Amino acid sequence: MIKISNTLTRKKETFVPLINGHVSMYVCGPTVYDFFHIGNARTFITFDMVRKYLEFSGYKVTYVMNITDVDDKIIERANKEGISTKEVAEKYTEEFFRDVEALKIKKATFYPKATEHIEEMLELVQALEQKGIAYNSDGDVFFDISKDKNYGKLSGKKLENLQASERSEQGDKKNNFDFALWKSAKEGEPFWESPWGNGRPGWHLECSVMSSKYLGETFDIHGGGIDLTFPHHENEIAQSECSTGKPFVKYWMHAEFLNINDEKMSKSLGNFFTAREVLKKYPAEAIRMLFLQKHYKSPINYEVVFIEEAKNSVEKITNAYRRGLERAGVLKGGEFAYRNRIEDFKIGMDDDFNTAIGISIVFNSAKEINLLLEKDFLSEEDLDELNGELRFLEAADSILGILLPKSETGDKFNALMSVVLKLRSSLRDKKDWESSDLLRKELENIGIRINDTSQGTKWDLK
Ligand code: AMP
Ligand code: ZN
Repeated sequence: MIKISNTLTRKKETFVPLINGHVSMYVCGPTVYDFFHIGNARTFITFDMVRKYLEFSGYKVTYVMNITDVDDKIIERANKEGISTKEVAEKYTEEFFRDVEALKIKKATFYPKATEHIEEMLELVQALEQKGIAYNSDGDVFFDISKDKNYGKLSGKKLENLQASERSEQGDKKNNFDFALWKSAKEGEPFWESPWGNGRPGWHLECSVMSSKYLGETFDIHGGGIDLTFPHHENEIAQSECSTGKPFVKYWMHAEFLNINDEKMSKSLGNFFTAREVLKKYPAEAIRMLFLQKHYKSPINYEVVFIEEAKNSVEKITNAYRRGLERAGVLKGGEFAYRNRIEDFKIGMDDDFNTAIGISIVFNSAKEINLLLEKDFLSEEDLDELNGELRFLEAADSILGILLPKSETGDKFNALMSVVLKLRSSLRDKKDWESSDLLRKELENIGIRINDTSQGTKWDLK
C-alpha cells in the first residue's frame, strides 16, 4: 500500500483514490515567459516519478499540468522584446515541451492553457460573487478571505493574523490577504471582456478551474513545489471549496527545493541554470539521478561535484546493465531474483515515494550483475539470476529514467574493443607475448581490464 505525506493533514496517509484503480492528479506547471531552470525541473521530475510509480503499481493515472500563458512576467517580456504576449507564450510553451521531452518526463494527459479557459474562470468568479465571497473594487475582483472560515488550513496560517496585518495599507482590499480573482486591464495589456469590465484572470483562479474541468470538483493528488503552499494552493482551496462546498483535493504533495548555497534556485535571485544549458553538459539521466537519489522532501544543493557524481553513477549502472544484457542473451525467466528486488524496491517506494531507497536497490542489483559478470562460466542458475536482475533494472528504470540510452559511441566503443581483442588473440597465436602483454598494459593504463578466461578473452572497465 502506498503512503503519501499529505501537507493538508500533516500526516503520512495510506493512499486510497476516489475511484478504485484510477488516480486523478494535477501539478502546477510553468509560466511560459522563459526557459525553465533545473529547480523547476526538480519539481517536474518528482511528479513524473510519482505518476510513473502509480502507473507501475497498477493505477490508471490522469495527469494534468497547466500552462500559465497570461501573467505579469509574460507581459513584461513581451514589452521588452516588442512582440505580443501570445508570441512569447507560444515560443516558451514549445521550449518547455522540448526540455520536458529531453528530461524523459512523460507527457501529461492534458496541458490546459489559461487563455483557453477564460469562460469557465468567469463563471467561477461570478459564482463566488453571488455567494458574497468575492467583491468588485474598481474592476478588480477580490476573494474575501474573512468569508472563508477554513482559510489557512493548508499552510497552517491563522486567519486573524492575516486579516490584521497591513489592513490599513490596502485601500482597495478589505483584508491584506484578499487576493485577485480578476484583474482590471491596464494600458497595453491583454484583456478579456467581463461583467466587471475588461481584464484578465488571476493566477490562482486558473488552477482551480482547469483542475476541476479535467479531474472533477474533488480529485486525488495535487502537487507543486513547496513554495506554492502559500498563498497559491491555499487560495486554490479557498476558491474551489467555497464555490462547490466539497473538498477540493484529497492529498496535497509538495516537493522540496533545489538550492544553490542553501538558497532556493530562482529566476529572481539570478542563481539559476536553465535545464537547457545543463542538458548540454550532462545527460538527462544524470539530472534525474541527482534529484531522485534523495527523497523529494529533502532539499538538495546543486553543485558541479554532485552532478558529476550522479553522471558516474548512471554510467556505472548502465554499464552493468548493458554488459549483463550482452552476456544473458535473451531476457526470460529470472522470476525469483526479479521478485526479490521488486519487493525491496516497493518497500521504499510505497513509503511516500522514497526514491533514495529505490535507487539503493538499483545499486545493489548492478553490483550483483557485476559479480555475476566476473564469473568465467555462468550456470543455469546464474543466468536465471542475471535475467531477474536485468528485468528489475528495466522495471526500475521505467519509473526513475536513469539508464543511459544505447549510444552510437557506446556501440562503436564495443566494436572497437572486439577489434582490439581479435588483434591480441592473433598476437598470442603467433606467440608474440611481448606485444600482447604491452597491449594489455596500455589498456589497463586507460582503465580497461582484460581477462583471459576459458570462454575467451573478456574486458571490463576498472
Ligand atoms: P514557476 O514557473 O516559478 O511558477 O515554477 C514552476 C514549478 O517549479 C512550481 O511548482 C515551483 O514550486 C517549482 N519550483 C520553482 N523553483 C524551484 C526550486 N528551486 N526547486 C524546486 N522547485 C521549484
Ligand atoms: Zn497552480
